[in-house]
Amino acid sequence: MALNIKRPNGTEDVIPKNINKWQTVEKVARDTAEKFGFKEIRIPTFENTNLFLRSVGETTDVVQKEMYTVIAKETKFTLRPEGTAGTIRAMLENGLLNDAMPQRVFYILSCFRHERPQKGRLREFHQFGLEMAGSSMPSADAEIISLAKNILDNLGIKNIELNINSIGCPECRAEYHKALKEYFGEKKDELCDTCLSRLEKNPMRILDCKSEICSEIAKDAPVILDYLCDECREHFEKLQGYLKNLSIDFKINPKIVRGLDYYTKTVFEFVSTDIGSQGTVCGGGRYDGLIEQLGSKAVPALGFAMGLERLIMVMENQGCEFMQKEPCNLYIAPMDEPALNKAMSLAKSLREYGHWIEYDVVGRSLKAQMKYADKINASFTLVLGTNELEANRAKIKNMKTGEQFELPLDDEKFADKFDALYLDNMLGNIDQFIIKNS
Ligand code: ATP
Ligand code: MG
Repeated sequence: MALNIKRPNGTEDVIPKNINKWQTVEKVARDTAEKFGFKEIRIPTFENTNLFLRSVGETTDVVQKEMYTVIAKETKFTLRPEGTAGTIRAMLENGLLNDAMPQRVFYILSCFRHERPQKGRLREFHQFGLEMAGSSMPSADAEIISLAKNILDNLGIKNIELNINSIGCPECRAEYHKALKEYFGEKKDELCDTCLSRLEKNPMRILDCKSEICSEIAKDAPVILDYLCDECREHFEKLQGYLKNLSIDFKINPKIVRGLDYYTKTVFEFVSTDIGSQGTVCGGGRYDGLIEQLGSKAVPALGFAMGLERLIMVMENQGCEFMQKEPCNLYIAPMDEPALNKAMSLAKSLREYGHWIEYDVVGRSLKAQMKYADKINASFTLVLGTNELEANRAKIKNMKTGEQFELPLDDEKFADKFDALYLDNMLGNIDQFIIKNS
């Protein structure tokens, strides 16, 4: 009977055949972040809705249109649309900010946004992200940008453009808001309904509108960089100096305002020129006001998030290499019940040596077992029957070369000798068998 329940629109399954792509991205991101002093944090999948209203911001697309919210026993909860709010909440709740500064954490998590699903835009997607709290210096901005760049480089991704901008602090932004209100106010009749409501509350959001008419109007809008106060300007200039010092190419793009309200000063995006409209693989910036907004003493902070689906898309597009696991090291084919018992105890010893061992648990004929061993691409096979058990010796066969080696069947001795043989035989094929990029 066909299963007529399908996965929800905008979600994806990752089947074992493709899991190496995810493991590659996660491992590279994790290892790179750890080299910069970041430690992993895990947070709940859902939070009290008010957390996102207060941090992400009530005038953003995410809050206005994209949140999955449920009411459970009169309390509103929302599936996290991003990782920053929950992470900062957790850092505060667990007292991390009372410890040595800066505090650096990273996370790998799923996010939920009710968007129109398309390639690179899902309703459940995954992020690698990180947050650094406790530094207001532009060197910290350069540090996390350099970390993001390092991850992209380590994944082998090319053709990525770094766009940076400063959206100032609440003081200089007030002046800028005035100018925007004036500019868009004159074109009120042409704006979409959402932008019309943004005009009063948060006119900068109009710059982020994806509707064609609004983005056309936004093209000639005043530019934030002309309104920065001395402190914000100096911060931005210093950041540019550090990026040059680190030989990181960048482009100043005054149109980047970011989709979430909590940003201040530096904002940035890494955009792939290869995968079309969903090309932003990483977005981040500074959010000096957020922690205070969530009810703590003021602590400057910054971070970024990368979309894992989009990273994988770019890597596939560019033919980047993914880690490959070694195939099954040894397949044991027992021909009768005593041989099956022997296969079990051999497998137990061999696995203690760290080998991937399989034997028949389906009760198949020898021929069918060999077909299976071939399918899983086993490196060696071992057939066990009455003769082998009586002689207490058996031959393993290298499936690539056809070479055979006779080994004693005592569990410990067998495991020890197989281990040495396996290394000997497979070393020449190291490219093919050993995990790449590790
Ligand atoms: P976009 O402008 O593409 O909607 P955003 O500004 O909403 O992106 P952020 O909130 O900054 O995105 O999230 C960080 C990263 O997460 C993005 O750069 C992108 O790579 C990824 N991302 C965001 N939304 C989605 C989604 N719906 N599906 C897949 N990846 C996403
Ligand atoms: Mg978005």
